[in-house]
Order: sequence, then C-alpha cells, then structure tokens
Amino acid sequence: MHSIMPLKLVHTSGPVYRVMTINVAKCLNSCLKFARQLPILTLAEFIRNMLQRWFHDRHRTPQSMRHQLTNASHLVILKRVEKCAYMTVNPVDWNIFSVKRSRKQWTVDLARKTCTCNKFQMNMFPCSHALAAARYSTFI
Ligand SMILES: [Zn+2]
Repeated sequence: MHSIMPLKLVHTSGPVYRVMTINVAKCLNSCLKFARQLPILTLAEFIRNMLQRWFHDRHRTPQSMRHQLTNASHLVILKRVEKCAYMTVNPVDWNIFSVKRSRKQWTVDLARKTCTCNKFQMNMFPCSHALAAARYSTFI
C-alpha cells in the first residue's frame, strides 16, 4: 500500500491575485486525508472524481454572478468600501494619496497600483486604502 505525502506549500514572489495557495494545499490535504490510505489506482480514481465534481460545480458559479468580479471578491470589495468610510484622504499629487485612519497612515499610488501596506501590489487587488484614495479621486 502506498502512502502519499501531504502537498507542500507553494511560495511565489509574483502577484497571487488574492488567491490563497496555502488554503488550496490545505483543502486538498484535508479532502485526501482518508483517501491517502487507498490503493494507488483507487486513489487516482478518487482524485479524478473529486476534481471533476469540483470543476462541474465551479462551472455553474459564473452563471449566477451578477458582477464582473466573483461573488467572493465582490463581497471583499464591499467590506473594504465600508472600511474606507472611516479613512481620511489627502492628495499628494494627481495619483498619490496619503490615507489616514486613527494614528496609522499609508501612501497609495493609484497609477502604479501600490500602497505602503503592500496588499495592493501583492494581491493585485485594491486594499481599503486604495479604495479610499480611488473614492477620493472619483475613480469609483
Ligand atoms: Zn493599503
């Protein structure tokens, strides 16, 4: 009987587009926890069926979407827009903004899509500071 090792975490220096690769590995490991004890051909068939079912279910999701973003991403944006309501924005120049909340401060460059919190450039998805700056500059 073969024993399959758990999937290893993937490290990347590039943008991850707000996709948590760690969670994918954990999810697969969790789903295969008991199947790892199966004979290799049965395990392969189990994985094929599981992935086929996942892809089928995922194929239906876009048909129910009402936005350009996925429903999950849309919810994240809505929460961040709510959060940016408590931020103060001061323009530094045409594209750069200083965003403050309580005693913390971030600098957002909308042209370069960067923020000093690093979430904007790492995830390629606007952080709440970037949304506050975009709201100020009437981009949204
Ligand atoms: Zn930020």
